[in-house]
Amino acid sequence: MEKRESMTRQELCRAAISKFGKEAQTRKAVEELTELSLALQHSAKGKTSYDNISEEIADVRFMLDQLEIMYDAAGRVEYWSQEKHKRLETIVSHK
Ligand SMILES: [Mg+2]
Repeated sequence: MEKRESMTRQELCRAAISKFGKEAQTRKAVEELTELSLALQHSAKGKTSYDNISEEIADVRFMLDQLEIMYDAAGRVEYWSQEKHKRLETIVSHK
């Protein structure tokens, strides 16, 4: 059997966008964010497992990566990540 090369995460995300389209993947992102949100709400009530939350986090990470590609946002996301990092660091370091 021929060994199939596995895709990098970036290649896989681009392939999903190409196959399903930006509109469908944007809807999918909203759906996955909702699923994570519900898992966290259920967790607060002791009605879900850490494994379920882990799976939903993984789903959301895939969709966030696709959103970053679809909205050509990598540079701005990096900028805002650094700004948020600094802001949070200031808050947690404040005595
Ligand atoms: Mg999900």
